[in-house]
Amino acid sequence: MNLPNMKNAKLRGLKTVEYKKQENLFSSNYVGKKYFIRTYGCQMNVHDSEEICSMVENLGFQKTECLEEADLVLLNTCAIRENAHDKVFGYLGRVKHLKKEKPELMIAIGGCMPQQESVIHNILEKHPYVDIVFGTHNIHELSKLILNHQKKQEIEVYSVEGNVYENVLYKRDSSITAWVNIMYGCDKFCTYCIVPYTRGKQRSRKMEDILKEVQELKDLGYQEITLLGQNVNAYGKDLEENIDFATLLEKVANIKISRVRFVTSHPWDFTDRMIEIIAKYDNVMPYIHLPLQSGSSKILKLMGRRYTKEEYLTLFHKMKERIPKVAITTDIIVGFPFETEQDFLETLEVVNTCKYDGAYTFIYSPREGTPASKMKDEVSNSVKEDRLHLLNRLINQYSFENNQKYLNKVVPVLIQGVSEKDQNKVYGYTDTMKLVNVIADQDVIGKIISVKITDAKSFSLDGEMVVTNQK
Ligand code: SF4
Repeated sequence: MNLPNMKNAKLRGLKTVEYKKQENLFSSNYVGKKYFIRTYGCQMNVHDSEEICSMVENLGFQKTECLEEADLVLLNTCAIRENAHDKVFGYLGRVKHLKKEKPELMIAIGGCMPQQESVIHNILEKHPYVDIVFGTHNIHELSKLILNHQKKQEIEVYSVEGNVYENVLYKRDSSITAWVNIMYGCDKFCTYCIVPYTRGKQRSRKMEDILKEVQELKDLGYQEITLLGQNVNAYGKDLEENIDFATLLEKVANIKISRVRFVTSHPWDFTDRMIEIIAKYDNVMPYIHLPLQSGSSKILKLMGRRYTKEEYLTLFHKMKERIPKVAITTDIIVGFPFETEQDFLETLEVVNTCKYDGAYTFIYSPREGTPASKMKDEVSNSVKEDRLHLLNRLINQYSFENNQKYLNKVVPVLIQGVSEKDQNKVYGYTDTMKLVNVIADQDVIGKIISVKITDAKSFSLDGEMVVTNQK
C-alpha cells in the first residue's frame, strides 16, 4: 500500500524527469466481462480516461454504458472543487449497493481525488468495499493492479514530481477530434489550486514525440487536434532545448491537420510570438481560453496569479487587435477570501470591457492543503451566490450578443455528430468554438462544411448547410 503525502507532492526540483516507454499489457483474462467508466472534471481527465479504457479493453473487458451490467466500475475523479468530491462519494453509494448484490464486482477509483490524504482516510474508514485506488502518477499501472488484485483493498498512490510516459495507447472517444498531451503537471501554485499537488511538477513532452503523434492522427484522418496541458503556453520551460509553445505550435500547424486548438493558457506565459503564430496560420483556430479569475489586482495577488488587471487587459486587447475574429472565453472565481464589493465590481468592469464569448464561473471552493484554504474566508455564502448570479447574467448577455453577430453569416463548421436534441440535425463547432446545430445529412459528419447561421442563442447557433468542402 502506498499512501499520498501532500507535503511531498509540493516538493520541486529533487529529480530530473525520466522519459519512459509505457509497457502495454495484453491479456484475455477478462474476455466477456464488462466495464463501466465515469469521468469527472477537466479535459485532462477525459483524455486520461481514454488511456484507462484502452488499458482495460486490452485486458479483455468490453465497455458498457449501463452501470448494473458492469463487472468493473472505474471512477476517474476530479479534486478541483468540493462538489466534485461530493458527487464521487454520492455515486459510490450507488455502486456500493450494486456490490452487495454482486460481490465479485470490482471497483477502482483513480485520478486527482486519491492524491489527497483526506480522501484516502475517508476511503479507508468508510469505503472498504473499494477494491483498487490509484493516482495520477500511476495510471499506467492500472492493468497490473487489476491483474494482481486479490481480495484485500489495494491503495497505490504516489506523491512524486512525476515522469513522462510515451508509447501510451488511447481508446479515443472520437475519430474526428483528438486530444494530444503536450505537458503534464503545473509549477504555478496559484494559491487556491490543488493541481500542482495532484498532478506533480511541470513536465513537457519532447517536441518530436508530440509531432509524431499529431502526424499519426493526421494520417488516420483526424480533422482536429487540441494540444492539452494545465498551462500549455508554459510548454518547454522545463526542457533543456530552447523550445517554447510558439515554436511547437508553428511546427504542429505545419503538419497541416485541418484544425489545431490548445487549452489551457495562463496569461502570464502568453508571448507576442504566440499571438503572431495564432494569427499567421489559418489552421490554428482563432479561439483562446484566457482565464481571468478576478478583475481585482488585489485579489489576483492573493491568488498568486502573477498578473494585474491592467496587464491582463493589455494582453486581451493585443489578442483582439492582432488575431482576426478571435473569440475569447475565460474562467472567473467569485467569493475568494477578502473579496470586497469593490473587488467584485472590478471583475464586472473587466467583463464589461472584454465582453467575453463565454465563461466558466465558480464560487470559490477551499481545497485542503493549499495556501488559500488558510486565508480567512469572510464572504458569506449568500453574498457569494448573489455575486455569481449577477456575473452569470452579464456573461450570458455578452455571449448572446456575440452570437447574434453570426446571424446570416456563412461560417465553416466541423461536424462532429448527430444533435442530441434533434436527431434530424447534426452538430459541430465553428473555428471560434461556437456550437452549431445544423440541418444537414449525417454523411457530413467528420467534414468541415459551410453553414449559414439562421438563429443565435446564448449558448449555441442554428444553421443550414450551404456548400460542402470535402477535406
Ligand atoms: S496555472 Fe494555477 S490554476 Fe492553472 S493548474 Fe496551475 S496552479 Fe492551477
